[in-house]
Amino acid sequence: MTSETQIRDWVEEAMFIDTHEHLIEESDRIDGLKYGKNGLMPCDDWAYLFFHYLSDDLVSAGMTKNDLNRFLSPDAALDEKLKLVLPWWERAKHTGYGQSVRHTLQGLYQETDLTPESAPRLAEKYRAMIQPGFYRHILHEKSRIERCQINSLQCIFKETEQPDLLQQDIGFPALSSDLNFEAVEQQFGRRSSDLDEWLEIIDWVFTTYEHRAVAAKNQSAYGRRLNYSKVDKSSASPLFNRKAAGDSLSLEEEKTLQDYLFRYCVERATEQRLPVKLHTGYYAGHNYMPLERVRQNAADLCPLLNDFPDTTFVLMHIGYTYQDEAIALAKHYHNVTIDLCWAWIINPMATVRFVKEYLLAAPANKLFTFGGDYITVETIYGHSRIARQGLTQALSELVDEGWIAIEETKELVVRLMRGNALETFPVRD
Ligand SMILES: [Zn+2]
Repeated sequence: MTSETQIRDWVEEAMFIDTHEHLIEESDRIDGLKYGKNGLMPCDDWAYLFFHYLSDDLVSAGMTKNDLNRFLSPDAALDEKLKLVLPWWERAKHTGYGQSVRHTLQGLYQETDLTPESAPRLAEKYRAMIQPGFYRHILHEKSRIERCQINSLQCIFKETEQPDLLQQDIGFPALSSDLNFEAVEQQFGRRSSDLDEWLEIIDWVFTTYEHRAVAAKNQSAYGRRLNYSKVDKSSASPLFNRKAAGDSLSLEEEKTLQDYLFRYCVERATEQRLPVKLHTGYYAGHNYMPLERVRQNAADLCPLLNDFPDTTFVLMHIGYTYQDEAIALAKHYHNVTIDLCWAWIINPMATVRFVKEYLLAAPANKLFTFGGDYITVETIYGHSRIARQGLTQALSELVDEGWIAIEETKELVVRLMRGNALETFPVRD
């Protein structure tokens, strides 16, 4: 048996702990378009499989926004949808996003490709799949994922119907870096006009969900640099009061207030022993990413990493395209871990290289190797196939090139696919 065959068997056998998804609740998926909130579900037919993230590559290939919107509309018929998407699907189907969908078509629907012949069958099979229990079926049986960590895009903390399967992050942008009085009032029925009251709300959120949350998550890197400076409460307080009263703050004042609140939330998360997950690197979507800002993510984080030695920081998406910096941070700082979530489909081959380089540079206990990062449960299956293929390749190459021994690899596989997550995140059933 070659080392690759042996390693593939081990990787296929182990169940992933999935450290990052954006799944909506299964009952909301079953409700379909009745649910259709927040742009998370533009349509409820086979085209929905092409929505997240593949639609970004379709636009990058040349599909117009109008055509994409029509393709994802609930009103367009199958033939029209097919005509709109096929030219761009042909051009984009080799990317990681495209391959993830192709694996999904094959593994869940037994269709090898999207064609005029397969589309009507796919449309039927898409509908037939959606019924009570289909999340567990796709995750456990098909994808061999034991449980997922969910960053709900529906609210700050989601009270899930399936807490053993879908553990939840506390999403803290609305409390800090993207202060949102309405979102907080809507979910918790609480409002405040001064900073002390707001801090009480933050305390309340972290203590209330302490035993149900698995991590605290922030994706402010989409809107600002990650240079969260130390700010005194006396500087933040008047800014908060003005903002609560409806005044607009200057950019510098906004940053000062955000910096204070962000650090306050990191303290609370750390008190509750919740790892802090941060978006770093590449942006979802298309035609707006300021790469200059993305390039600064790793360096911007250093003061925070120094100031919070007791916090476990989870840097997501390998900071792509600056993944060398992510390895340097994980090697240098005891409190930095790296999550490959989303990375396998942003750039599969870069992620294979990353795993090889990471393991030879930084301790193996600080790497999480799977998070589909999807809203749609079906495509998590496709992503998990790419992750297993990539992990097998990276580890086989390391063995064949003489860097690690085959005898040590089985243990490493289990550590990377589940052991590290079990060691790092609170397990709550
Ligand atoms: Zn995400």
